[in-house]
Amino acid sequence: MPPTVESSATPLPGPATSPGDHAGIVVRGVTRSFGAVRALDGVDLDARPGRVTALIGPNGSGKTTLLLVLAGLLVPDAGHVRVGGHDPVTDGPAARALTGWMPDAFGTWDSLTAREVLTTYAAAYRLPREAARTRAAELLETVHLTEYADRPASVLSRGQKQRLGLARALVHSPRVLLLDEPASGLDPRSRVDLRELLRGLAAQGSTVLVSSHVLSELDELVDDAVFLSRGRTVTPHGLAGGAPVRRTWRLRALSYGALTRWLTSTGSQWRPDDDVPPPGSPDDLPDDPPGGVLLEVDGDAGAAQLVRDAVGAGVPVTSLAPVGGELEQAYLTLDEERR
Ligand code: ADP
Ligand code: MG
Repeated sequence: MPPTVESSATPLPGPATSPGDHAGIVVRGVTRSFGAVRALDGVDLDARPGRVTALIGPNGSGKTTLLLVLAGLLVPDAGHVRVGGHDPVTDGPAARALTGWMPDAFGTWDSLTAREVLTTYAAAYRLPREAARTRAAELLETVHLTEYADRPASVLSRGQKQRLGLARALVHSPRVLLLDEPASGLDPRSRVDLRELLRGLAAQGSTVLVSSHVLSELDELVDDAVFLSRGRTVTPHGLAGGAPVRRTWRLRALSYGALTRWLTSTGSQWRPDDDVPPPGSPDDLPDDPPGGVLLEVDGDAGAAQLVRDAVGAGVPVTSLAPVGGELEQAYLTLDEERR
């Protein structure tokens, strides 16, 4: 699935969604403070059934706080929340029954085996003993932990614990999944597995909300993206339409010397592309090898113009491509300071 950033997930002007009118996640104007820190400062969000929605923001932007509110583990100061049509504050048991929650760190279950963690959870959700055993075995298989089923959860690696945490969140076949940084600590193979698992759950109609501050984890995984910045939902420049997005592009040519001399003569700001030799000044180079540069370009139209101008000036251009994924570029335009 190609990475897509759909502006429908961001609070754009348009037909207002009335609270609770879909079976996914609806958040309107939610605030939550910890002492003087306003962790959530009026968040709006929709995560729809059948889609994987990313909750993206730098450290401290309020992702975990929001997920805790949705999981019914933290009461908001104000605002409106619906999870699968239920209010986690006033209708907690009903909301929790259909919500799977995976925290960012696996709790202390040191004395239990991986299998016992799952059967214990299944019992808490009142699955009959036999069904619980079957479900646990099935989920251990799904997250590739069958081999570790009867070892203490404490011996698992961080990535294995993450996978057990995911299995735990799925024990009661929830229709809404809340995952806090689920890909952190996973090796590349496990990330692909995670992606396939979440896509499969969405295809069956589940609502999946997954937070991350590592954009490369989310590209190719998500359908919609919601950006959090200082406890508010924000629309990155460019996602809401309007002005073209200024982003970094990689321009390569058969002659690094010709490319950089031309760029300099036009007054363009550029920097060497460290991925492509040669580094250093073109004047220091004995001959004229191919090479590339990175530069900022305004939108696709700007990129097209750049190619026309370069080719027109006789630069032997071989390629021009944007650097980084679409989510990453959108994220960078937030121009957000970490806190
Ligand atoms: P994120 O998950 O996006 O990194 P958090 O939701 O964990 O962000 O935190 C948002 C802000 O709220 C941060 O400034 C954080 O320090 C603060 N915060 C979160 N939880 C608590 C808490 N239990 N007590 C005090 N401050 C908190
Ligand atoms: Mg967090």
